Amino acid sequence: MITTYHNHSSWSDGAASIREMALAAKAAGAKEFGISDHLVAGPRPFFLESRAWSMGYNLLESYVADALSVKAELDSPEFRVRVGVEADYFPETYQGLNRMLAKLPLDYVIGAVHFAGDFPIDASAGYWQRLSPLERNAVWYEYVRRVDECADRLDCNFLAHLDLAKIYRVEPLAECITKLKALLRRCAEKGLCIEINTAGYDKPCGERYPSPVLLETAVEAGVGILVNADAHKPEQITRHFEKAYAALDALGVTHQPTFEKRQRFEVIRNA
Ligand SMILES: [Zn+2]
Ligand SMILES: [Zn+2]
Repeated sequence: MITTYHNHSSWSDGAASIREMALAAKAAGAKEFGISDHLVAGPRPFFLESRAWSMGYNLLESYVADALSVKAELDSPEFRVRVGVEADYFPETYQGLNRMLAKLPLDYVIGAVHFAGDFPIDASAGYWQRLSPLERNAVWYEYVRRVDECADRLDCNFLAHLDLAKIYRVEPLAECITKLKALLRRCAEKGLCIEINTAGYDKPCGERYPSPVLLETAVEAGVGILVNADAHKPEQITRHFEKAYAALDALGVTHQPTFEKRQRFEVIRNA
């Protein structure tokens, strides 16, 4: 069963409307489509940096209204439209963010970290190139620390692109991988899911998020795993899904999570 829950529209940094993205998902044979535009409700410097790729939180209600209108038009038992958001975790603002998100009729929230301190993780290779090897390790370490906090503090349904900091091919310290593995075991206990994010195949790292070793740990621990494209254009809506499905098949994963009104449901993958 094809579901695609991590997608962007022109409400943030996507190229198409929510409706166009939903129609692309339907045409690709998806049974469930979710829209999840960026919401970066961070302290002021982050807000300014992210203005180009995130909706301002003053637009959040209008975005949800647009998504609900697409749902009203296109949702059916054969094709479900879900309303979500990809929310950035910041230690300074997460409590207000949780309150803001709780008031909205969302089906799911994706917890994401795109900043380590004031360092933008996936904005450009140039930021990484200017760092010394020690500083690169420090960014990785801080990134993992924040993902860890995000899992505990942000009211989210699944974590985005777990090892995003590999995007420009900077390898993590073994200690970072150990911490992410421990986090995955906690995710299983908490019922927090992760995604295979296939956008990574089209980035300099050339592989999906998370890496094979982290995916294996997730499966062993019993973490719910979605397959998502992080699509920013209609033609990306199910990109490289066959590779992700092959990886899940090889690991014997039989079920996949879906979300409605912030509740998790398990469905059979090959139904
Ligand atoms: Zn993201
Ligand atoms: Zn995204």
